[in-house]
This record gives sequence, structure tokens and C-alpha cells, in this order.
Amino acid sequence: MKLYIPGPVQVSEKTFRAFCRPMIGHRSGEFKKLYGGIQPRLKELFQTEQPVFLSTSSAWGVMEGAVRNLVGEGKVLNCMCGAFSDKWLDVSRKCGKQAEALQVEWGQPIRGEQIRAKLKEGGYQAVTVIHNETSTGVLSPLQEICEVMREFPDVLLIVDTVSSFSVVPIPMDAWGIDVLLTGSQKALAMPPGLALFSASAKAFERAEKVKGRGYYFDFLEFRKNQLEDMTPSTPSISHIYALESKLEDIFTEGVSNRHQRHAQLNDLVGEWVKRNGFEFFAPEGFRSRSLTCVANNRGIDVAAFVKNLKDRHGIVLDGGYGKLKGLTFRVSNMGDETQESMTALLAAMDDCLPQ
Ligand SMILES: *Cc1c(COP(=O)(O)O)cnc(C)c1O
Repeated sequence: MKLYIPGPVQVSEKTFRAFCRPMIGHRSGEFKKLYGGIQPRLKELFQTEQPVFLSTSSAWGVMEGAVRNLVGEGKVLNCMCGAFSDKWLDVSRKCGKQAEALQVEWGQPIRGEQIRAKLKEGGYQAVTVIHNETSTGVLSPLQEICEVMREFPDVLLIVDTVSSFSVVPIPMDAWGIDVLLTGSQKALAMPPGLALFSASAKAFERAEKVKGRGYYFDFLEFRKNQLEDMTPSTPSISHIYALESKLEDIFTEGVSNRHQRHAQLNDLVGEWVKRNGFEFFAPEGFRSRSLTCVANNRGIDVAAFVKNLKDRHGIVLDGGYGKLKGLTFRVSNMGDETQESMTALLAAMDDCLPQ
């Protein structure tokens, strides 16, 4: 069985071998060497001078944690354009925060001017944005959003890049992102269970004043432990081994080559979409580079298509997320995919497409 769903994605043999290395003590010198050793590459990948933290949780842990660390008595604006970004509003409210929605229709991006209009109302402490909304295949214009955020220096920007990290450039410091977070099982093609994040100086200043940060996701605990190349609690050491191996892969390929590879593979899928008379769910100019959300304008039986792919080719494809089930299907090109693997996928899709 091979996964072409947009997360978890297929994990390579090499990553698995690293994942399965024997355990070491998490307060040992060996661990500190492992942890400290990957920091320079992590910082380079995050394009930040700040430390990069590793949280043994899925991305949602840090998504919740960022709200708890950066939002006190003021409001948080949750920008919503799909399943994951919509859920962030509920999560903020469950943390007891005053959360407001900036909701656009699923399939549309979040635009800078929409955020500006909301923030002008005043009283906001932070904004959450999902860079690449995995459920709809929409890539929101992050640079445009970051430029708007400069007009509101007291409002901090929290960005989820779970399915765009290392796919397109995201210069954290240059764009002024306050919390940049990602998860292990999508764009990074590792097993699920680890989240990576970095926080700006402004984010730490805010966290110092915010009460009720809790312990497990307290940014100040992460910062304190990082000084000694450690995590606050016992981390998933296996994931850190896997991450070390993945960083080796990424820097061997070269970061910009990696971006280019994703663009090329994404274009291959795009050509398949057009060739077969389908449309894209996301508008031109705002399409994800790591997955394609295909609009089922032909009205095919998506469930049968997905089942045939599985039965005949051992390929797992997604038949649409939540309310988009059957109305769309999603093709992932994230992680370690190659020209060969994507060409094979598209041939299998041709074979299973109802006439
Ligand atoms: C998958 C996904 C998440 C949630 O990740 P978990 O690992 O389940 O916590 C969050 N944001 C985006 C954009 C995702 O694609």
C-alpha cells in the first residue's frame, strides 16, 4: 500500500531506519549532541535566528499552545478557510479565549485586506493563519498577510505551515512571523507525533505576561530547556532521529531544489487535472504546491475511483475532506515523491478513472 493522501504521507525506508534506532537517555550527553546538532539546519530551514523547538505532540498541540502563550485578556482572530483553520476557532474558545472568526468560503484564500479590516476594530492580541489549507488545497498569500501585520505591531502572527513547510520558501524572520509551526507527518514525510516550532522575541515577551500558559506547551519552558539542548519533558527520541535523517536528505538535495521538485511534481498533477477535464477547487494564484484538491466537476463516483485505486494498484488516495467528500479528491505530492513515483500514480489514476 502506498499513501498519496495529504497526510500522513509515505515514510521512506531510510527515515524508518533512523526512527528505529535504540533509545538513549533524554538527559544524556548523547541526546544533547543529537538535539543541539540539528539546530543549525533547523534554523536555516525555518529561516530564523531563533531556536527551533520540538514538541512531542501532533501539530494541534502547538496550535493550541500558541494561542495559550500569546493571547491573554485580548482577542484572537482565527482566519478560517477550510477544515483545519475553521477548527482553530473552536480550539481558541475551548482554551477560554475571546476568539473571533474571519471566515471565507471553503476554496478561497485569506487576503491581507480582510485581516486589516478586522484588526482595525481593535482589541486583538494575535491572528492565526493556516498557510496551506490542506482540506481545500488553498495556499493563502502569506507575504501579503505579513505586510498587513506590520501595521499592527502589537498583534502577533501565528502561522501553521503543516503542509507547506519546506515546500515553498517561508522566511520567518524576514516576514516577521511570530510563531511558525509545522508537523512531522505531512510536508516533512516523517511518522506522525512530532511538531516543530519557533517563536519571535515579541512572542516570548508576550508569553511572559500571559497567565494560564499551562506546562506542556509553555514556550518559556521550551526556551529554558533549549539552553541545555533539551526538551521540557521526555521527547519522542525516535522522531528526533528521524528528523536528523530527514534534514540530511533535505540538505543533500538542497532546499531550493526541494522547492523546485515540489513545484514540478505539482505541475504534473495539474496537467493531469486539465487533460482529464477536471477543474481545480482552489483559484488560480492560490493553489497549494504540495497537494491538489481536484473539483469533481465531471461528477464521477469518487468513492469508486478511490476504491479501484486501492484494490487494483495499492494506492491510497483521498476522496475529499469532510463536507467536500465526493465533491473533490486530493492528490498529494509532498514529502519524498519523485517524477517516477508521481508518473506511476497518474498512470494508475488514468487506469481507474471511469470513462
Ligand atoms: C494535518 C493538519 C493539521 C493537524 O495536524 P495534527 O498532526 O493532526 O495535529 C493542522 N494543520 C494543517 C494545515 C494540517 O494539514
